[in-house]
Amino acid sequence: MATTKANSSFIKNSDKTVLPISVPERLLLGPGPSNSHPSVLKALSLQPVGHLDPFYINLMAEVQGLLRQVWKTNNRLTLPMSGTGSAAMEATLANILEPGDSVLVGIKGYFGNRLADMASRYQANVNKIEKKWGEAFTLEEIEEAIIKFKPSVLALVHAETSTGVCQPMQGIGDLCRKYDCLLILDTVTSLGSIPLYLDDWKVDLAYSCSQKGLSCPPGLGPFTMNERAEEKLNNRNSKVPNWYLDVSLLNKYWGSDRVYHHTAPVNMNFGIREALRLIVEEGIENSWNRHKRNALELWNGLEKLGLELYVEEKLRLPTLTTVKIPEGINGKDFTLHLLNEHGVEIGGGLGDLAGKVWRIGLMGYNSKTENVEKVLNLFETELPKFKS
Ligand code: PLP
Repeated sequence: MATTKANSSFIKNSDKTVLPISVPERLLLGPGPSNSHPSVLKALSLQPVGHLDPFYINLMAEVQGLLRQVWKTNNRLTLPMSGTGSAAMEATLANILEPGDSVLVGIKGYFGNRLADMASRYQANVNKIEKKWGEAFTLEEIEEAIIKFKPSVLALVHAETSTGVCQPMQGIGDLCRKYDCLLILDTVTSLGSIPLYLDDWKVDLAYSCSQKGLSCPPGLGPFTMNERAEEKLNNRNSKVPNWYLDVSLLNKYWGSDRVYHHTAPVNMNFGIREALRLIVEEGIENSWNRHKRNALELWNGLEKLGLELYVEEKLRLPTLTTVKIPEGINGKDFTLHLLNEHGVEIGGGLGDLAGKVWRIGLMGYNSKTENVEKVLNLFETELPKFKS
């Protein structure tokens, strides 16, 4: 592997010339981004075309079609938002919330809190159901809270990246229909890598990111909404309070009118088209199975080394594994050592789990046996050096 240490002095001392960029080589096995697929990087490096060029307009339709395939949805309004996953998260809330709307947010980790914070900025009446970090909601808990708070929107995180928990989705969409409530689902750490059936699950709005299961750099936030959500958007009393993310305006560009809204990040869309094409070529179910297989190998290997996993197996995310930091070990020193000496990034804990867990990601292109073996080998040989 090439040099792993970051070189922060990019200006030559002698003649003050700014050197061309040189990025250290990293194997990204943390919470994201993951490494991009080489053919995605090739697509990104092509010359841009105009954002109203007929070639590009055709490519936009291809991206929408591919996104529908990997999300298993027929939603007409499916498009990649310009921005990261948080922009797409904000788009779901901005488009359907009006001041005073009642929102119920399921919080079982860091990103549930972000949803609640964002919803409050749109003057929604935010209620929360909370679960200990590391656990998931039961159907009964969700129904009880819907009956209590009578929300018009329920927002949940499918794959909670801060804890490594996957929220079981069976029956939740039916509950939302029964109580006339829209369901928003965060699929940032699940799209492309964990079973997702948006239409069968009766999810009304969902969002994701480009940099995890899709093996593309960060920069796009896939977004989708169904007809129930469109109806709420069309019947708003007030304008969508966020111009950039207003789907009624964006749809004039992504729909048949092709009216300029903002200059599309065309190369990012080249990249995501290639990323999605690769998933469809592999087969979405094959990709899910690959992620599960490699995660099982990782879990078994970590346990054989005497490490304890934070989440019970039936709720564990194949994309993100939380490992308890053993007593007496400084978790941050270990992650810095892996990064600086071995070029391997794993994550530390976030929020309530800071200092308590490591987060190991096996996402998209990075979910492969050789990476599992590499990280297990590093835990076996390097971790003992950090025991006091
Ligand atoms: N939701 C979840 C579950 C995430 O893991 C993340 C980021 O990791 C986000 C939302 C926000 O996405 P981004 O950082 O791409 O804005």
